[in-house]
Amino acid sequence: MPVRFPSVIILAMTTTGNITGGCLCKAVRYSVSAVPVVTRACWCRVCQYIGAGSGTVNTCFPSAAVTVTGELRDYVMTADSGNLSHRRFCPSCGTHLFSASEARPHLVFVRAGTLDDPELARPAMSIWTSMAPSWACLDERLPKVERQPPPAA
Ligand SMILES: [Zn+2]
Ligand SMILES: [Zn+2]
Repeated sequence: MPVRFPSVIILAMTTTGNITGGCLCKAVRYSVSAVPVVTRACWCRVCQYIGAGSGTVNTCFPSAAVTVTGELRDYVMTADSGNLSHRRFCPSCGTHLFSASEARPHLVFVRAGTLDDPELARPAMSIWTSMAPSWACLDERLPKVERQPPPAA
């Protein structure tokens, strides 16, 4: 039975071109010319709103590598980390696509469900697990971080 190593996935991405994605109605599309920095499943209270009760899966990229077409709305608030956060979504279909912290402007977090190939977004850890409800399905194979982990990059 073949084993899928992360290096094989990265090789596939670099040989097939950019990572692409977009919102449900396709008014917003994006392209990323870099491999993911890290993917994490987040159970912070805000992600439970965006994830309709579940946590969200977010793939981190260098901001400079992400190109977006289409209109985005931006909801700014103070995150549980204490940092000012931007949450960007399609005003037409409401799909959340990106989050970014003013404390780490060189990084953007892509909502993994918007990737054309969600297989690229395999979480490396679960974060903010202290905020998860008791019925949350947390992947027991992944390390858990109760609150904000150290910066991804
Ligand atoms: Zn849309
Ligand atoms: Zn979160």
